[in-house]
Parts: sequence; C-alpha cells; structure tokens
Amino acid sequence: MSAGPYVIQERQLGHLDIYTYLYPQNAGLGKKYLDAAVKYIGMYTELFGPYPFDKFAAVENFFPTGYGYPSYTLMGGTVIRLPFIVDTSFPHEIAHCWWGNGVQVDYREGNWSEGLVTYLADYLLEEKKSPAAARDYRLRLLSDYSSLVKADRDFPLQKFMVESILLPVP
Ligand SMILES: [Zn+2]
Repeated sequence: MSAGPYVIQERQLGHLDIYTYLYPQNAGLGKKYLDAAVKYIGMYTELFGPYPFDKFAAVENFFPTGYGYPSYTLMGGTVIRLPFIVDTSFPHEIAHCWWGNGVQVDYREGNWSEGLVTYLADYLLEEKKSPAAARDYRLRLLSDYSSLVKADRDFPLQKFMVESILLPVP
C-alpha cells in the first residue's frame, strides 16, 4: 500500500493511462517522469510487445526505495530528485513491468529477471549512447564484481537462486 498527500498527474499513451503520484514538494518533477514513462514504455513495447497492465504509475515513497510492482514503481523522494534516475533506475523499474511482474519469477529456478532487466535497461541504454559507454559499463560491472565478490562467495550464474544470496555458499 502507498499513501500520502499526492499530487496526481496523468498522461495517455494510446489506451494506456500513465500517472505520477508525487508529494507536493516534488510535483514539479511530474512532467519529466511522465515524458520518460512515455519514452521507455514506448521503447519496451516495441522491443517486448504490448505493455502487460492497464495503467502505469510512478509513485513517490518516503523511504529511499526503487521497487517495481505490477503496474507501478515505488521510488523514494530523495531518489527521484537525483537527475540521472529518470534515465537509469526509472527505465529499469519500467522494464520490470514485463520481466518480473508481467512474467513472474519461479525462484526455484533462479532469479533470471534481475539479470535480464539489468541487461535490457542499464546496459542497453549505455549501448544506445555509444560502444565506448557500453564498454565502460561492462568494465564497471567487472570491477565491482571483482571488488565485492570474494572467491568463497563466487558461484556459476546457473546457481543464482534466492538462497545463494541469503545463505552462505557451502
Ligand atoms: Zn531490478
């Protein structure tokens, strides 16, 4: 559940209703997020097929979250004010409308949706900028991986299950 003194703004994309639910102090960001929602839902509709829900809403939260739910994303007020979020985390959460919320994960077979969405949002958007930006993104991921994942916590991708994250690897 989400609640607050929201300022609601609306846009149409074909038959799809798109909304922002923002607190008054961030209501000025509504147009920017509606424009971005139209852009990225349009881009992913071309790439994946029809948007799987009747509406999409970008909803502000007082916690610093970035969650994708069926038909809406819940993002923190401090998060949405960061100028790069509208073209990074926001399209990531929109892509989850298809992968993770439209087509849901069976965690017994691994959490493939996070990797797929990271590839189709975070990486694809860098690739659209330039081959050099895509290479830099891959290098950043490899650098982060080598810094953050110790040898005793490393495992093959096919073993990427919720238990792999939550429990120590034997
Ligand atoms: Zn994600």
